[in-house]
Amino acid sequence: MMQYLVILLDDTSVSYCHYENTKMEKQLISLENLQAGILFAMKQNLIIQFVYPDYDLPEAYKKVIENIDNTKIVSALGTEKNADVVVFNGWGNLTDYDFSQSEEKAFVIRTSKTALFENHKKAIAILDKITRLNIVIIDVERFKDDDFEQYENVLNKLKTAVKEVCEKGKFPQLNLLTDRILLDKMNNCNAGIENITLAPNGKFYICPAFYFENESDFVGELSSGVNIKNKQLYTLEYAPICRKCDAYQCKRCVWLNRKTTMEVNTPSHEQCVITHLERNASRELLNDLHLYDAFLDNEIETIDYLDPFEKTNEYNF
Ligand code: SF4
Repeated sequence: MMQYLVILLDDTSVSYCHYENTKMEKQLISLENLQAGILFAMKQNLIIQFVYPDYDLPEAYKKVIENIDNTKIVSALGTEKNADVVVFNGWGNLTDYDFSQSEEKAFVIRTSKTALFENHKKAIAILDKITRLNIVIIDVERFKDDDFEQYENVLNKLKTAVKEVCEKGKFPQLNLLTDRILLDKMNNCNAGIENITLAPNGKFYICPAFYFENESDFVGELSSGVNIKNKQLYTLEYAPICRKCDAYQCKRCVWLNRKTTMEVNTPSHEQCVITHLERNASRELLNDLHLYDAFLDNEIETIDYLDPFEKTNEYNF
């Protein structure tokens, strides 16, 4: 069931996920489309997530936005200070950011694999200052065998850091390690199923990535509503490998799937291995936390594979 409407306020709205926003020219959504989008959300009972550009919005827009409950996704460089989600595009501005009064906010760091390997200590340094941090790798498809090894090492270091913060009585949420601990079923992105995106041009897209990749890839308009062809393909039930998988924290990114395998419901080897390395590191963290009597009801099984595709026969996937 649809639950969220993502509204891109401008063509230069910050990317908060795997996709790159390469648009440089401002194109603010019209006030008319903004109001129509909000009305659409109200009629469908959807929670709105506004994605902000870096510049200050006109007062008329601010007024309309504040008339409805919403979540604000904002760049760390943006002028909107009342953010719910703050996005760092890379690691450059992390050390200068004032993390005081950050408890209510979630943070996102978008990073390439190499930058993560080089800068993960900067994430470790803020773990005791934040409530939630999402690290989003933007070049998943470029992982090679050596990178998997390096990623495992980074996860180990992050795991030790999370454990040390837990020992001080705090539980920082780090998507790569703690989401799987807290989940007992799939918690994927569910673009096209639970959320849909309205772009500044007044058209709907599966998610922002589909808009920025190809504007003609829309799945409806404000005037006619959402109409997704073969909608079932976006569901877990129609993803034969994923539906048997227990890497519950996986975003199961349908845009990344299409980019790497040409099918929205078929993941790449890289995505699965990365996610299973996270799953296994989460398991080790959970076992460590059990020693402190934390999360005693939660268990993550030991498994002997990193890519479920390789086990399709043996495990009856
Ligand atoms: S790890 Fe692979 S099989 Fe498991 S949910 Fe993610 S994409 Fe699907």
